[in-house]
Amino acid sequence: MQIEQRLDPLLTAALDLGPEASLRGADYRFTGSARLQHQAQVESNARSYPRRIPLELRRAEGIHVQDSEGRWFIDCLAGAGTLALGHNHPAVLQAIRGLLDGKRPLHTLDLMTEAKDDFINELFASLPAEFARDARIQFCGPAGTDAVEAALKLVRTATGRSQMLAFHGAYHGMTQGALSLMGSLGPKRYLDGMISGVQMLPYPYGYRCPFGLGGAEGERVGLHYIENQLKDPESGVLPAAGMILETVQGEGGVIAPSADWLRGIRRITREAGVPLILDEVQCGIGRTGKLFAFEHAGIVPDVLVLSKAIGGSLPLAVVVYHKDLDRWQPGAHAGTFRGNQLAMAAGAATLKIIREQALAEHAASMGERLAGHLCALQRDYRQLGDVRGRGLMLGVEVVDPDGPVDSLGHPAAHPQLAAAIQRQCLRRGLIIELGGRHSSVLRVLPPLIIRAEEVDQVAEIFMGAIRAALMEVKSITYE
Ligand code: PMP
Repeated sequence: MQIEQRLDPLLTAALDLGPEASLRGADYRFTGSARLQHQAQVESNARSYPRRIPLELRRAEGIHVQDSEGRWFIDCLAGAGTLALGHNHPAVLQAIRGLLDGKRPLHTLDLMTEAKDDFINELFASLPAEFARDARIQFCGPAGTDAVEAALKLVRTATGRSQMLAFHGAYHGMTQGALSLMGSLGPKRYLDGMISGVQMLPYPYGYRCPFGLGGAEGERVGLHYIENQLKDPESGVLPAAGMILETVQGEGGVIAPSADWLRGIRRITREAGVPLILDEVQCGIGRTGKLFAFEHAGIVPDVLVLSKAIGGSLPLAVVVYHKDLDRWQPGAHAGTFRGNQLAMAAGAATLKIIREQALAEHAASMGERLAGHLCALQRDYRQLGDVRGRGLMLGVEVVDPDGPVDSLGHPAAHPQLAAAIQRQCLRRGLIIELGGRHSSVLRVLPPLIIRAEEVDQVAEIFMGAIRAALMEVKSITYE
């Protein structure tokens, strides 16, 4: 009783799973283990996922995780898109064991090792030849955000400029430079000293088009606006050191621009002499149906930021860029933990398997299958306002069909219902992510190894969850 009273209110809300619904399959209730209660007491108020996914994890295998009460879940969060091969893939475990059993060095700063050379070779073999030929690589501190910081330093040093161009809805990480490029205001609202001179540009979010147009026309106008901004001698914006964007936005709500838009951005930045930084921390390494999402558009960036999947479930982050930009000084982006040998071995094994087993193509066809299911559900449930994404990076924007509509005729977001669907999925043994504007986008990011029957299972659980969530939210809203 005493412990319960000390529980964080948000965790309590997550544990309160609402009214009974008629369900098939799992119907898990979450009362919170002693460790979960301990977590709520001692872990920082800044903790995030446990608030909505109150699980104590015990085992993990493939696309599944098991909690401390022995319940199995399909993991469509997958470390926020990190686990391309799922949990504990045998090839990844073997690579890690090989290093451990061979008494190889585990910590090497940025000194050369066999594991490092193998990783570089695997990564460069995965990149389009046109990009790999003239590329240089910088190993960074082991998080995506540190690689973003490195990319900023790289282009600012190379161009001698400081202004950066970034996009509405962008997510690049939580360190100061990366935060300055972020669309969401939440994490930076109370912070002073963001890097100055960041110009935010409209990303082609068709469903909530910043120009009120949507579709190809919205993208065309957006490109025109950006081009004009860069070319107009009186735009008031200083020439930029670089433009950074996610080739497919993840945290911003799973937004995939067309190939035409990406080609347009490539042309505009090239003509303006502004290095183009593509952040593929989340959308890279096969997730969108190509090894790199920029390949859908047949373009190459000047700078590529990678993390998450490249470490094969262990922390690793790199920047790969054109050698002409390699003008920073020795030590310009140092860091103690840039030599994570286990991650390099696990990452090389992951890249190899993805390439050899054509998992990017598999992700494309599984993504199509899942999107097909979600679109079919959308026809039955008006609350599923928009189904979108690329490959196995999918999102469903949840709306209130009876709420106010915007100038495009799209109803307002319904974060309460989105959260209820996520909760109801969890009760049925499916972990999905919530993100996007107003936390109203359900995000499905399964490991790339997911099989067709498992995709069907995800869709079936999702359907049951929508039904139950609608009953739950109705009673909250109208009682
Ligand atoms: N860029 C993108 C596109 C991301 O999705 C993320 C993490 N979600 C990051 C950068 C930051 O990576 P990390 O959390 O490892 O710092």
